[in-house]
Amino acid sequence: METKLLYMEDMQSLSCTAKITDIKDGGILLDQTIFYPQGGGQPYDTGEITSDGSAFDVKEVRFDNGQVVHYGNTRKDNFKIGDSVECEVNQKRRDLHSRIHSAGHVIDMGLKECSIPWVPGKGYHFPDGPYVEYEGNLNDDGERLEKQLEDTCNHITQSDVRTKIVMTDLKNVSDLCHHVPTYLPKGRPVRVVLYGDFGVPCGGTHVEKISDIGKITIRKIKQKKSTIKVSYQINS
Ligand SMILES: [Zn+2]
Repeated sequence: METKLLYMEDMQSLSCTAKITDIKDGGILLDQTIFYPQGGGQPYDTGEITSDGSAFDVKEVRFDNGQVVHYGNTRKDNFKIGDSVECEVNQKRRDLHSRIHSAGHVIDMGLKECSIPWVPGKGYHFPDGPYVEYEGNLNDDGERLEKQLEDTCNHITQSDVRTKIVMTDLKNVSDLCHHVPTYLPKGRPVRVVLYGDFGVPCGGTHVEKISDIGKITIRKIKQKKSTIKVSYQINS
């Protein structure tokens, strides 16, 4: 049975109730979860799973064939299959990851505002050196563009606009999104996150308001063959 991914519908909630469906190889499986499993360039959540008599510290969360596995250490008495539990995500870690991840989308928005037609590729939204990659050509002075893009991004992050989730058919994604990646699954609804009128098909967690990201620094823009890497950081 696939785990129901509650963060797909509500990115701001940090707790939920759930039922334990399986326990294997030191990992706990639940019928539904609010924990984000690592993926899409974004690190996993940590936190705790508790019940009246038991407690488990969640140290790592991974996807495995549609199921989310919560790994960690038992702090107090073991759980058993069928137990009802409370899940609580570590807010500090989640907030930081959501801000770093969202800043990657603001860079997409900034490039569009600067009329730079690069095609988004993969992103790495870990605190130790985040970047976003594009296919295209850097027909410009990299340093000048770094400054222009940084100014544009920091103008965008002044906005109090709230992010919004829309579940839609694949055929409608191009109406909402500037770029539609080829890897989107067919036959199931696509989750589009809207930053104002800028939509991104994305399964990650995002800030509640664009201004929650804070200041973005563009550290470096460099090209290797046809891939352009934009390295950035946010204020911690
Ligand atoms: Zn995203």
